[in-house]
Amino acid sequence: METILLNEGNDKLKAAFYNLGCKVNQYETEAIRKIFLTSGYEIVDELNAADVIVVNTCAVTSLSEQKSRQIIRRLIRANQSAIMCVMGCYAQNSPQKISEIDGVDVIIGTADRMKIIEFVEEARKNREEKILHVDDVKKISVFEELPHTPQRTRAFLKIEDGCNNFCAYCIIPYLRGRVRSRSLENIRAECLQLAGNGYREIVLTGIHIGAYGQDFKNKITLVDAVKMVLETANPYRLRLGSIESAEMSDELIELMKSDERICNHVHLPLQSGSDEILKAMRRPYTTKNFAALISKLVKEIPDISIGTDLIVGFPNETDKNFEETIEFIKAQPFSKIHVFPFSAREGTLAATMPNQISAQVKKIRANQALEISASKEKNFAEKLIGKTVEIIAETEENNFIDGLTKNYVRVYLPTNSEIKSGDVGKVKIEKIFRNGVLGNAI
Ligand code: SF4
Repeated sequence: METILLNEGNDKLKAAFYNLGCKVNQYETEAIRKIFLTSGYEIVDELNAADVIVVNTCAVTSLSEQKSRQIIRRLIRANQSAIMCVMGCYAQNSPQKISEIDGVDVIIGTADRMKIIEFVEEARKNREEKILHVDDVKKISVFEELPHTPQRTRAFLKIEDGCNNFCAYCIIPYLRGRVRSRSLENIRAECLQLAGNGYREIVLTGIHIGAYGQDFKNKITLVDAVKMVLETANPYRLRLGSIESAEMSDELIELMKSDERICNHVHLPLQSGSDEILKAMRRPYTTKNFAALISKLVKEIPDISIGTDLIVGFPNETDKNFEETIEFIKAQPFSKIHVFPFSAREGTLAATMPNQISAQVKKIRANQALEISASKEKNFAEKLIGKTVEIIAETEENNFIDGLTKNYVRVYLPTNSEIKSGDVGKVKIEKIFRNGVLGNAI
């Protein structure tokens, strides 16, 4: 039976959530929300009205950490009586720094999140002592199952956690631990739930989904996980989260080609267009391999959109290296480039490298790459003008409803159209609009 947790006024206790960071964090925040809900809490959007606030933090760059700190402080100032529970990658990386923030009650890292209610209840009884529960994630070898109900039209489905790659710049393997794949049975169980609830689009997420199955003894790979989702959830669309180029197997490309339900959209992190820098970054591919994969994808999968990530100003990146990157990205048919100025993360190899690049040079390089991204994004979207596309409608806001095409272009249309949130609808595209295109329902 559900335990109803009450505050002094004898109302149900209220919990509110603030999420920072990637799709894995979004999935996990939704799961923690579900844990609170099934433990008898009322979930509220207004953080000021909450008895408990959970902030799920990010630590991928120093800027993400700074943002996480700012949000924690802001929310404590806005609601001093609430129990403040900080979890996620920043909590895993810097528990001591967080515990120095006045008003933080509970700190949990990236594991053992099923115990969150226990910790919060403890903190409610005694707010004098902070509760700090951060496990050594590298010792964890099993995927943590969390109950989960998606919050949106697109359902994220987490199939993996952790990474074994240790790219020179990346803090994630230290914060998320080694690769832990979710069992096919548990993926199947969540898919059955999603199918029952009518989700039209499923997005496969994980820290390193291409490594799915590496920790299993049998030869299960991402392709098996994808087939399982298609078979059990039978989604209208299945989207793959970010995937390393070296892990785009021929089998996976074949599956994308042959099954209409898999979106013609991939996100392949490039990080640099200079082989010298890729090597220093410890990335397991060359620009030649990467370009060959892109040509193959473009040839085999019609209208595919290919997004990427780029780090500019990696230590020792010379003007020549950066020029090579610019030439490379210009030549590739990317639909969007996420540009990150290199951020030295303590504990990683790159943070100890000589010849760190100045903030000013990183900014100039980032702006140059962003300009190229903006023009590529526009070019890709412009190809849709005059065409009819299919979208799954998501959010209604300020007289517009928006949704994504299969190949990840955001489409807006007036709210007075026949298409409502959650619907699959056809839209005739008229022009470029905001971060996508505008059209009318047909
Ligand atoms: S593959 Fe590299 S960049 Fe990606 S999470 Fe692992 S270490 Fe980080």
